[in-house]
Amino acid sequence: KLFNEVQELKGNIRVYCRLRPFLPGQKEKQSIVEHVGETDLVVANPSKPGKEGLRTFKFNKVFGPTSTQAGVYADIQAFIRSVLDGYNVCIFAYGQTGSGKTYTMSGPNNATSESVGVNYRALNDLFTISTSRKSSIEYEIVPDATMQPVKSPEDVIKLMDIGLKNRAKGSTAMNERSSRSHSVVSIHVRGMDKKAGSSLHGNLHLVDLAGSERVDRSEVTGDRLKEAQHINKSLSALGDVIFALSQKSSHVPYRNSKLTQLLQTSLGGQAKTLMLVQINSDVKSFSESLSTLKFAERVS
Ligand code: ADP
Ligand code: MG
Repeated sequence: KLFNEVQELKGNIRVYCRLRPFLPGQKEKQSIVEHVGETDLVVANPSKPGKEGLRTFKFNKVFGPTSTQAGVYADIQAFIRSVLDGYNVCIFAYGQTGSGKTYTMSGPNNATSESVGVNYRALNDLFTISTSRKSSIEYEIVPDATMQPVKSPEDVIKLMDIGLKNRAKGSTAMNERSSRSHSVVSIHVRGMDKKAGSSLHGNLHLVDLAGSERVDRSEVTGDRLKEAQHINKSLSALGDVIFALSQKSSHVPYRNSKLTQLLQTSLGGQAKTLMLVQINSDVKSFSESLSTLKFAERVS
């Protein structure tokens, strides 16, 4: 095993928090964030001035608004690489619409090599390492969507782009690019150790979750409302599963949603789970941010 350093991450749920910066055209620039530490975040309730309004949240890592894509990836890399040692890894981005989930996982539209997100960096990493290990271990990377073997990161990126385009999107009052579905990139790795004659299997799931905002905020009706309620249900089912795992509970309620059923073998047991909690620190988003932070607090 070349990546022994991540051995200790096994079975644990890690929770990182990333703060989205204010965007260039943004008018409202009042932040709820009082303090950003290495592993803690202090937020101020705008309707409770003074000390009473302050609340501290703890994480395994906090990335402030000036964090870079490369910097964030540096703290994720160990998880990704352990897939090549045969571990199952799930990485989730959680947060309300507009909090930066897609930016962190995929990057912005027309991303540059500096702004590409976790998905692309992870694939490049897996291919680079599997190539460098070629003399001792022969790897295959097989994405879920087609089960066609792929030879290069470009092959997988092509598949991911098709996935992004097909992702159901609906216009809501919050953000017309609001994603009303979860987006999952699954990569299965098979390795053959030539000397030992043994094989290993690892799965990587990179999940850009649907927005966690409550239904009323988006003023949705009809089919959209049903869809929003369905999303909320699957997010809370995910929260329940991760909570049960973090409590080392003997009953883990995987069967309550399609998402958790899909990820069952990669959540818990020998698997490693990383939750990336995204926050938009704009005062207007305070109540959504607070519920996101409470969700994170429950699963960590
Ligand atoms: P979500 O997927 O959670 O709905 P997005 O990733 O689409 O949110 O982010 C909303 C907007 O903020 C996008 O225009 C995105 O490019 C921008 N953005 C998000 N995070 C960052 C960041 N860390 N740095 C710069 N821009 C960001
Ligand atoms: Mg998105």
